[in-house]
Amino acid sequence: GDKRLEELTVEDTTCGYCAVGCRFDLYSDGEEILAARPTAEEDAPVNGISTCVKGKFGYNFVNSDDRLTSPLVRDENGEFREATWDEAYSRVVEGFDRIRDDHGAESLSLIASSKATNEENYLMGKFARQVLGTNSVDNCNRLCHSSTVAGLAQSYGYGAASVSTEDLEIADCILLTGSNTTEAHPVLATRIKQNVRDGADLLVFDPREVQIAEYATQYSRIKPGYDAVWINGLIRHIINNDLYDKEFVENRVTGYEPEEAPDHEAADDREERVDKRETGFEAVKESVQEFTPEVVEEVTGVPHEEVVSAAETIAAADACVFGWTLGLTEHSHGTENVLAMANLAAITGNLGKPGAGVSPFRGQNNVQGGGGDMGPLPDNFPGYQDIADDELRAKFEDAWDCEISPEYGYYTTQMFLAADRGDIRGMYIIGENAALSEPGVNHAEQVLSDLDFLVVQDLFVNETAQYADVVLPACSFVEKTGTFTNTDRTVQMVKQVMEPKGDSRPDWEILQDLANRMGREWDYESSAEIMEEVNSVTPIYGGMTHERIEAEGGLQWPCWDEDHPGTKRLYEEQFNTDNGKANLQAVGYSEPAETPDSEYPLSLTTGRVLYQYHTGTMTHRSDGMMQYTPSDFVEVHPETAGEFDIESGEMVTIESRRGEIVVPAQVTDRVGPDTVFVPIHFAESAVNRLTDEEHLDPAAATPEYKVSAVRISPADGT
Ligand code: SF4
Repeated sequence: GDKRLEELTVEDTTCGYCAVGCRFDLYSDGEEILAARPTAEEDAPVNGISTCVKGKFGYNFVNSDDRLTSPLVRDENGEFREATWDEAYSRVVEGFDRIRDDHGAESLSLIASSKATNEENYLMGKFARQVLGTNSVDNCNRLCHSSTVAGLAQSYGYGAASVSTEDLEIADCILLTGSNTTEAHPVLATRIKQNVRDGADLLVFDPREVQIAEYATQYSRIKPGYDAVWINGLIRHIINNDLYDKEFVENRVTGYEPEEAPDHEAADDREERVDKRETGFEAVKESVQEFTPEVVEEVTGVPHEEVVSAAETIAAADACVFGWTLGLTEHSHGTENVLAMANLAAITGNLGKPGAGVSPFRGQNNVQGGGGDMGPLPDNFPGYQDIADDELRAKFEDAWDCEISPEYGYYTTQMFLAADRGDIRGMYIIGENAALSEPGVNHAEQVLSDLDFLVVQDLFVNETAQYADVVLPACSFVEKTGTFTNTDRTVQMVKQVMEPKGDSRPDWEILQDLANRMGREWDYESSAEIMEEVNSVTPIYGGMTHERIEAEGGLQWPCWDEDHPGTKRLYEEQFNTDNGKANLQAVGYSEPAETPDSEYPLSLTTGRVLYQYHTGTMTHRSDGMMQYTPSDFVEVHPETAGEFDIESGEMVTIESRRGEIVVPAQVTDRVGPDTVFVPIHFAESAVNRLTDEEHLDPAAATPEYKVSAVRISPADGT
């Protein structure tokens, strides 16, 4: 009744699952989250009144019995025991100090959390540089869209979506690739489907016939790992048939400045080629000529008619959005795939106008803000300010009162390789389940157990925490206040609805306590105060105070000062490059680091399902979600199943050069005969035992999650 309602706390907040950035009202009685209800539509720019099952029902984790409610340290037998904050902090300080004294500050590293707020991630970057003294700070963005960030930054200047979410609803054409939109970004899929019902064209290129493909004007099955090839095929058709946007190319794209002949060497000279890459429209035109209809069909499996119809649909559209997720990026040449996509958007003039642009759908709720904008990155300060730039470094040395090395630190994936060599000895991992999410999990487990000192800060004793020396209990987004930045650069408020469970604390308070114990004087009283510091050192967030975000219901960056309205679409007038033009770059042939052979004849690709989220730390604690998807599985094409004696529902052993897992089979033609698919959500069948930790994208250090050579057999067949 009404009385009960009056006793509840209600706050309008932003979803803590994915980067769509849905807003809704959360109701709590102080013990648990009781309901999520739509907020006023005008307060929810992204979702209106819709949410998906995770945002609506996914809160059991907050109150789950196994929530960490006090710090844990190891006892004399090496077992965890509960400890006071005081004791836990002392152990952390001792551990970090010892490594720093014995091996230098550079042997420490910090993995920040894209689940945490912007304010907290800003402090994680500051903590690494000012308190620990290392530039080896990074986050899960390395594992997903860092090749998007690198590629788009090189081409246009900002490593982010150029569009607003509403553009998905007003585009005439949407090209989607490597995105299981319905399951991974449900509310975006709803908006896309609505637009398709209203007559927009939808082109889907994907190795799996994902659910959104049912709505597509055209679905093309691609072989995983060759995206730049089919994209270049589209570009070739568009240029050679004079279908490109000449005015846009003439005015807004870098010209051809020949230096030396283009280099068409084999794929293993990739690193060298990156330095030599030719720029400008003419260079792109020349480089795409090798992607003839025969080459595209042979390499990617896409027939010429489909290349032609997709190219002509894009060229005929007044406004086209190019959307993608990790199928495009998680490759040893992910940045090249993104550069090719950036070329396609630019030559068709689809940037900086309503209904057009590039739209990488970001994954974690705050990976755009916390994982990128706030600069817990080995090469960038907040706002993508390069640490190697003397002036910018001096600005931060001054603001943070410390010395900062101009040498880039290690990316996450590199930290694990560096640890093998003894170059990284201590890690502080915050809200990231690296023991499951890193490529080559067998290797990651070895590294975590060999570290001299590991601190894990999380809601749970997850798989990573099992290797920790000290575990610090953090709290979730319903127990603290701050901001998240969603996939279209909108910064939105996150509000505390409940007191922190047990003795858990918000990440920013833990960082502050530790900084003060390590000789610094931090005295932030609220996350609003941290944001004020962000405003003062981060030009693209210059005008984003909590007060304004609250009053205006969200602000999109860049937002340079208090009077700036924020930026709905990037590049309306010019690109964020030296000369204001899009910097097209010729992208040649590349292939996966590991291709199928007689020993490992199939390509394994990985992804997500609707009812689960990443390594399951949150969703596995919900009975409802678990009923729908209780385990991982492998999708096998009927022909392939016949060939390898696989039956639907039976257990299958999948082996790669790095490990093996056993999962039940789903025989389906959703995948092609040369591909098998396994989701990423369960520890028992950690698919990353099969993936490869060594072959990383040369520009972004992203691993090749999306292609591993594997073989399959019935699990009882040995
Ligand atoms: Fe949350 Fe994403 Fe679902 Fe929206 S679509 S409710 S942001 S998980």
